[in-house]
Amino acid sequence: MARIRWTGAAGLELSLDGRTFLVDPYVTRPSKYSILFKALVSDKNAVQSFVQGRDGNIAGMVAGHTHFDHALDIPGIAPFCRGPVVGSKSLETLLALHGLNHRVRVCRGEETVALDHDISVTMILSAHGRVMMGQVPYPGKINGCTRLPMKARGYGIGTMFMPKIVINGTTILHAGSAGVDLHAMDGHTCDVLFMCVPGWQRSPDYVTKFPRLVEPKIIVPFHYDDFTRALGPGPNFPVLPFLDMDGFVRALSKSFPKADILFLNPNGSLEV
Ligand SMILES: [Zn+2]
Repeated sequence: MARIRWTGAAGLELSLDGRTFLVDPYVTRPSKYSILFKALVSDKNAVQSFVQGRDGNIAGMVAGHTHFDHALDIPGIAPFCRGPVVGSKSLETLLALHGLNHRVRVCRGEETVALDHDISVTMILSAHGRVMMGQVPYPGKINGCTRLPMKARGYGIGTMFMPKIVINGTTILHAGSAGVDLHAMDGHTCDVLFMCVPGWQRSPDYVTKFPRLVEPKIIVPFHYDDFTRALGPGPNFPVLPFLDMDGFVRALSKSFPKADILFLNPNGSLEV
């Protein structure tokens, strides 16, 4: 039995037989003020406690794209990861800026990479949601000539992927932003679909054609926690504004009623 835990923002932790695999781990959660006005620095203590909480047994890591809320903490976690780190050329540049050269298995789209003998990831090309005043935020890629620390805008998107992970015979799709490239999705299906909520209103195919195409059994909305605030220990957590979650659920129920929609709290999990 594998367990999938939502760790906040677009972060997923997949556990199988004592090993942990991470997608877009994000633990620093800098404030709005920091994001707007300051250079962003990964919080070493938060990284340390995150790694320790996983018994140091991180066996693989994947980044869907290199915006700060997906990639800021990856250079800090990478030294504790004993398996592959999979992502774009932009991710490789980020790690190289931190002295971690050639650490990334660089993908350009459609590659399937074994994270271990019983878990693989296919890096499907995707599209980012237009979540910042109708535009895709922070375009371009991370610049290898930049100096650290970078401001939020330095974390260019790089190649945008929708990782498809097969673990223990279960297929999981990680839609880390509310957008999709329907052509790239052709022929792909899944059991569990994690769907980023913010921005869904501007991406009609994302809630109509996309679920019908990939036919999930379970849809888990995620990345709607307010990632500029800390997650407390209790069940209540800060959420982003303007989600229209009811509208999102209604649209999904209409387009693909066969899927169960499952809500998790951050750090909540499901078994597959
Ligand atoms: Zn993004």
